[in-house]
Amino acid sequence: MAAGVAVDTRHWIGGRRVASARTFPDHSPIDSSLLAEVARGGAEEAAAAVTAALAAFPAWAATSREDRARVLHAIADGVEKRIEELAAVETADNGALLRSHLRGVMPRVAQNFRFFADWLLTIDRDDFETRGHSNHISWDPAGVCALITPWNAPLMLATWKIAPALAAGNTVVLKPAEWSPLTASLLADIAAAAGLPAGVLNVVQGYGEEVGAALVSDPRVARIGFTGSVPTARHIAGAAAANLVPVSLELGGKSPLLVFADCDLDLAVELAVEQYDNAGQVCLAGTRLLVESSVAEEFTRRFVARASALRQGDPREEATDIGPNIHPEHLARVDGFVRRALAAGARAVIGGGPHSELGGLYYRPTLLTDVAPDAEIVTEEVFGPVLTLQTFDTEEEAVALANSTRFGLAATVVTSDVARADRVTGQLVAGTVWVNCFFVRDLRAPFGGARQSGVGREGGDWSFDFYCDIKNTVTAPKGWQHRG
Ligand code: NAD
Repeated sequence: MAAGVAVDTRHWIGGRRVASARTFPDHSPIDSSLLAEVARGGAEEAAAAVTAALAAFPAWAATSREDRARVLHAIADGVEKRIEELAAVETADNGALLRSHLRGVMPRVAQNFRFFADWLLTIDRDDFETRGHSNHISWDPAGVCALITPWNAPLMLATWKIAPALAAGNTVVLKPAEWSPLTASLLADIAAAAGLPAGVLNVVQGYGEEVGAALVSDPRVARIGFTGSVPTARHIAGAAAANLVPVSLELGGKSPLLVFADCDLDLAVELAVEQYDNAGQVCLAGTRLLVESSVAEEFTRRFVARASALRQGDPREEATDIGPNIHPEHLARVDGFVRRALAAGARAVIGGGPHSELGGLYYRPTLLTDVAPDAEIVTEEVFGPVLTLQTFDTEEEAVALANSTRFGLAATVVTSDVARADRVTGQLVAGTVWVNCFFVRDLRAPFGGARQSGVGREGGDWSFDFYCDIKNTVTAPKGWQHRG
């Protein structure tokens, strides 16, 4: 049981709690207090979880779609009943705003289960004929899915994968991030209470290089779903390649936010300031502000006024806009990027360092200008409240700057000119492009990244395409005389 929170932090394997000989400490980014000693799994626990998932697979795969959908809706009910607890635990664990967890994130966690439960019942395609033979396409369960997830939106991102994997009739082993392991443990309790059979969802805790690496290398795993950083993705893709297992990779980004002079400048400023959400720890964040030169000065003036009004502090308080970053190591990494940028000649228009009055893991919302297009701060993902501002004079220049990194997760275009929006969005390399908006995410839509922001797409049909073995059954018409 956790020290600071009421969460059982042992693994959840085959429908029961399993301890490990070793544990690791889980501290809150809010005040560094010890929240829990968490089971530190390794190869043995990973193998036990895959064994349990494999044993549970045939019965779960054989259930009807309707029965699976019912259980998923029951899990959603369970999440909804415990939203306050889940929100409080996740805020303590990863430092994201309590109000966002209560009103946005946790309701969407429940919605993840409801959506994929309902979508499951829609994925049929009409049969079609080939010289009188019928083609029937089915989405068969694939087997055990190993899911590895990050800390920045732990339950949200885990359930984007768990829900479609379970809906499709697979069994799952989840390895949550070691910096925010707690809500995954609660989800295991909720799923069990909702009637999910033992072994269908398993949760192993521990470090990526230990239990995570063992899990993705297990040859009995049928699918690997990963959300996290590019360096880890290389390890995971290597393990998937060794076993020739389909892998879905949702990775980092360095997304541009393009501000054209013809836009509603207040909207542009509002959208730009939103990029500090979750203390900048959002994969989709448009961290590169690309602003047309003629409005750059006015944009910056309004941006500074708006960003200076953001309240930084305890994420449990309703009035707080920006909480702490996740971990001392991460804060040092964020600060390292900023230090090197400043040393290379960048200018901090606002911020530029940790928030010393607040202490702890708070980093001042930062805007850097005078950055070279190939500077590290412009090309590498910082994953903190750090934005850069570059200017452009022509549409071509804007598009070239937007597409100039190795990433391609998302882009935002702010313009009042519809024809320009069409031209520009058509040329952007990104999995998601928003025009005059940000973060509107419909689970029916494909989600994923181009270039090194990912491999594959999830959401709606795309999730089922990934988590299923899709089969085409071709049947000859009655009385058909086969001739070779
Ligand atoms: P990370 O890559 O360090 O860790 C992610 C997960 O991988 C953790 O659970 C970790 O324990 C595990 N892991 C680490 N090494 C492993 C190994 N060798 N084998 C198996 N598992 C291993 O990423 P992070 O720091 O937790 O998350 C931040 C990153 O995630 C950022 O790059 C961010 O952009 C990205 N992200 C992407 C999306 C998206 O949808 N594209 C969403 C959120 C976060």
